[in-house]
Amino acid sequence: MSGLWYDISAPRYEAKQAKSIIHPFAVRGYTGMTINPYQGCQHRCAYCYATYEWSPEFYDKVYAKSNAPEVLEKELQSWKGSTINPVMVASATDAYQPAELKYGLTRRCVQVLQKYNVPYYVFTKSAIIERDLELHRRYAHNCFVVWSITTANERIRRVVEPGTPPAERIFAVIKKFTDAGVPCGVNVDPIMPLVTDTDEELDAVVDCCKEAGVKYVFGAMLRMREDIWDRMKLALRLLGIPDGERRYRQIYEIKEPLAKPYIACNKEYGKKVTDRLYKKIESRGLCPDFPDHVRPQDIDRSCAGQTTMLSFTETSSD
Ligand code: SF4
Repeated sequence: MSGLWYDISAPRYEAKQAKSIIHPFAVRGYTGMTINPYQGCQHRCAYCYATYEWSPEFYDKVYAKSNAPEVLEKELQSWKGSTINPVMVASATDAYQPAELKYGLTRRCVQVLQKYNVPYYVFTKSAIIERDLELHRRYAHNCFVVWSITTANERIRRVVEPGTPPAERIFAVIKKFTDAGVPCGVNVDPIMPLVTDTDEELDAVVDCCKEAGVKYVFGAMLRMREDIWDRMKLALRLLGIPDGERRYRQIYEIKEPLAKPYIACNKEYGKKVTDRLYKKIESRGLCPDFPDHVRPQDIDRSCAGQTTMLSFTETSSD
């Protein structure tokens, strides 16, 4: 045991068969369809919403659903209805984590989505997607690529999301996508109180977005859950946040055991932070929303009780 939330050795990979690939999801007033070509994720983010009690090896064992493209194709062939909501790639794993270099399942699933003219949006924290730049570029009219970037600060990234590439590397890839005409967004999610919610932190990310040609930027505060709280306590200690645990208990009004499924941070605290973020976004002439061509359905714009907020960081596993 490493004493961390993940094993420090490289994750193990295993192929498995999936019965179905395309699933509905609902998050804070947004609904849509999603595909997850992998189960588990080696990006190892402390705040990950996709980890579940039944998946204790989530960070250290990645299952590749080796028949995902074939199953997806069958499901789309027999799709009932003349239209389909935009599909999220992916909701419970990063579809462009390193396992993709070995298995190539995401690339093949995207090719299937394109074959059936399905609009899709990718959520990733990876630079590996660069391999598929040309694939997405050819489909730019019907896709949207979003990078979830919580920090441009290397010291913080190494602690809270040690399996991801540095922001500098990701923004270099984003620039290639925007230069190629692919619609690109950045999801500043989750914003971690006392860690990434300072003006300095938020400005750094939003400035990088502007420089990289990103048009769509949005974000949301970290939501707390029992297992996330355990990992965040450790991350706060590793980051040396003064009095971090006690201040988090105040900000999240934590009473153990935590109420399920999620606890939002104190409303006033969260609103101040997200208001600042959205001011920064708007002052740089960026759009705090999805582009129309891939907008998820049934958007409940009152869900955040403030400026439009999207929160699509991975939330469920299949
Ligand atoms: S938050 Fe996303 S990228 Fe990070 S470990 Fe979870 S699934 Fe992977």
